Parts: sequence; C-alpha cells; structure tokens
Amino acid sequence: MRLVLLGAPGVGKGTQADQLSARFGRPKISTGDILREAVRNETTLGLEAKACMDEGKLVPDSIVVGIVRDKLGEPACARGFLLDGFPRTVPQAEELGRMLEGRGSRLDRVVNVMVPREEVVKRLTGRRSCPKCQAVFHVDFAPPARAGSCDRCGAALVQRTDDKRETVEARLKVYEEQTAPLIHYYRQKALLSDVDGSGRVEDVQRRLVEVLEAHRLT
Ligand code: AMP
Repeated sequence: MRLVLLGAPGVGKGTQADQLSARFGRPKISTGDILREAVRNETTLGLEAKACMDEGKLVPDSIVVGIVRDKLGEPACARGFLLDGFPRTVPQAEELGRMLEGRGSRLDRVVNVMVPREEVVKRLTGRRSCPKCQAVFHVDFAPPARAGSCDRCGAALVQRTDDKRETVEARLKVYEEQTAPLIHYYRQKALLSDVDGSGRVEDVQRRLVEVLEAHRLT
C-alpha cells in the first residue's frame, strides 16, 4: 500500500491517514507534522521552515523532499506508507516518482479527498490544538469537555498560527495554484481516485477503504 492522500488543507487528510495507518499497519508520513515538530524543537530545519509556515506558504521543495527521502528509507516503510501533505507541487511529485523508481517501486494510488471550500474554511478556522500533547479539537465539531482546555492533558488549547482566517485564505490560494495541478498530473497517470470528504469521519473512512479494496490494496 503505497498511497498519497491529496486534497486542500482542512479536508481531513491527516485524520483519515491516521485511521488508515492504524487499520492497515502502514506508517503515515505527514510533512506538516514533521515540520511542526522541527519548529517546536527549534532545529535548523524548523527555524528555516517556520516563517513560510506561519504565512501559509510552502516550505522549499528541497527541504520537504529531503524529509520524505529519509522517511522512505526507513525499514518501517518497506511494506508501504501513507503520504499526507506530500507531494504538494509538480516538482515534488516528479521527485517522489524518481525516489520510488530508484527503489524499484512506484505509487499504487493517489486519493483526492474533496470537500467544498466553505466547509474547509469552517473546519480550519475552528480548529484548536493542544501545544503540549498535540491533540486536536474543533469549537463546533469536536469541542473539548471544558472549553479551551485539552481533554487529554488539561493544557490550554491554542489556535495554530496557520489556522487563523487570513492564513487559511493564503493556504487555500497556494493549494489552488500549486497543489491542485497534481489532480490532473495523477489522473493522467491513471493513479487518481476521487473521494467525497464531506460528512462524518467514519463515513469518509468507509469510502476510502472501498477505494482501496476496489484496487486490491488492502
Ligand atoms: P499541513 O499540516 O500539511 O497543512 O502543513 C502545514 C504547513 O507545512 C504548510 O502550510 C506548509 O507551510 C508546510 N508543508 C507541509 N507539507 C509541505 C510540502 N509537501 N511542501 C511544502 N510545504 C509543506
């Protein structure tokens, strides 16, 4: 199962990838998560990436390609992986193709998760994260038991800088301009499946699993 989850920020790729990862025992590789951890740890990489991330812009291809190359080289990825948030540009997709080819491998499927724009804005701007344990909540769809504090560890919840309204708009613009062309790129390679990402998490998961089953990837 060598899978890419494609889609605008806020369509739920991360949540779905976590569930698929647990269900099928394949590691999730999320470039966004790896970069956020680097920012928290103030590593050289994190310091380089932070400004781009805070503005909702893409981190340079060279940085993210290096991250993914390292991850794909780990033994855990030998039986497959779920890529979440990578590739995000055509050059990244080309680089991924070369990396896999170099290992005598290739992608099995790219799933394009689709959610209407207004819904995505609502999902992102309402998201609240725990700075301590990284748990994620939503003011309307998944509120914590006590407003403003983490159910898991009690820390005060925060809004990610890049989930603020203006930054969300910037991220969606970047998606339209730089990432959406990948839909055409992978469709032409006959690798793309569209999945409706609206509704409940478990319904989207079921649709995803159906696609994987239809392609004998489970
Ligand atoms: P995400 O959590 O996937 O929305 O990623 C958060 C931020 O990390 C993005 O807005 C980018 O600044 C950066 N990022 C994550 N993945 C990539 C990527 N493949 N290419 C460039 N920047 C990325």
